[in-house]
Amino acid sequence: MTQNMLKFVSVNRQMPDKREADKRAKDFHEIYAEYIADKAKEQASRCSQCGIPFCQVHCPLHNNIPDWLLLTAEGRLREAYELSQATNNMPEVCGRICPQDRLCEGNCVIEQSGHGTVTIGSIEKYLTDTAWKEGWVTPFKIPRERDQSVGIIGAGPGGLAAGEELRRKGYRVYIYDRYDRVGGLLVYGIPDFKLEKDIVARRAKRLQECGIEFHLNFEVGRDASLEELRSRHDAIVIATGVYGPRDLALPGAGLNGIYNAMDYLTASNRH
Ligand SMILES: Cc1cc2nc3c(=O)[nH]c(=O)nc-3n(C[C@H](O)[C@H](O)[C@H](O)COP(=O)(O)OP(=O)(O)OC[C@H]3O[C@@H](n4cnc5c(N)ncnc54)[C@H](O)[C@@H]3O)c2cc1C
Ligand code: SF4
Repeated sequence: MTQNMLKFVSVNRQMPDKREADKRAKDFHEIYAEYIADKAKEQASRCSQCGIPFCQVHCPLHNNIPDWLLLTAEGRLREAYELSQATNNMPEVCGRICPQDRLCEGNCVIEQSGHGTVTIGSIEKYLTDTAWKEGWVTPFKIPRERDQSVGIIGAGPGGLAAGEELRRKGYRVYIYDRYDRVGGLLVYGIPDFKLEKDIVARRAKRLQECGIEFHLNFEVGRDASLEELRSRHDAIVIATGVYGPRDLALPGAGLNGIYNAMDYLTASNRH
């Protein structure tokens, strides 16, 4: 193991290259290009395989980061991917948008000792993007179809993750969302330069292939009441997110031309 790992002393931290600014200014697509395979392996090999891995302790999902870094460094990418997705419903999304600097990477002992963190997020993104390219991300099979159904209000990451876990257990899952696309703020809040829309769309397609039914342009409170949904399903999950804006306590905050961020972002992303 030591042969492949603990390279933080000899290998510097390196992020994937940024795409050229003039290209980005034209398309506003993601900032970082892909790691090439050897770079991902090299960067994973910087991990010191801590006995108490603070990266994992500070990950809200407790992802088994040191083990999938080891597998990546050994070139066992499929196994690394399988491990990373075992605790995460959409690792390629977390690899792109998690605040790693405050979670896994910010608490990595190599960062704390001044060597520069292991680039956990970029490696996670590389692993799952590779898995999609290689066809390793397939619809899952359910052990047995149950009679009970669950209605989920909200097709954001919360609703999608709940839907996937319930479907894996065999429940019939119906997800309702007031918008015309699946993804919640992943689509209508976060701009393309951080997370491109097709990354979310392919997840939605896979969930559909697993048997989850989406009802879009369906607002609970307008197209059906909560009580009506309750009578349709055996259980309801409410995953409607947080949309109440915080008011600016500043002079001029109510002037014309000042909008709440979510109103602006939703309109801009829809466009
Ligand atoms: C600009 C921006 C940048 C962000 N960047 C990051 C980041 O870098 N990293 C990070 O971790 N997080 C980031 N976030 C936050 C992240 O997007 C949210 O935490 C996450 O999307 C919350 O997921 P959710 O499923 O709880 O809710 P949402 O994503 O808000 O989904 C809720 C869904 O419920 C639907 N809904 C609501 N009411 C009803 C109703 N009555 N009937 C039917 N459907 C309804 C909505 O249409 C929506 O699709 C960012 C958010 C924004 C706005
Ligand atoms: S804290 Fe850093 S060095 Fe330790 S296991 Fe996690 S990634 Fe590796």
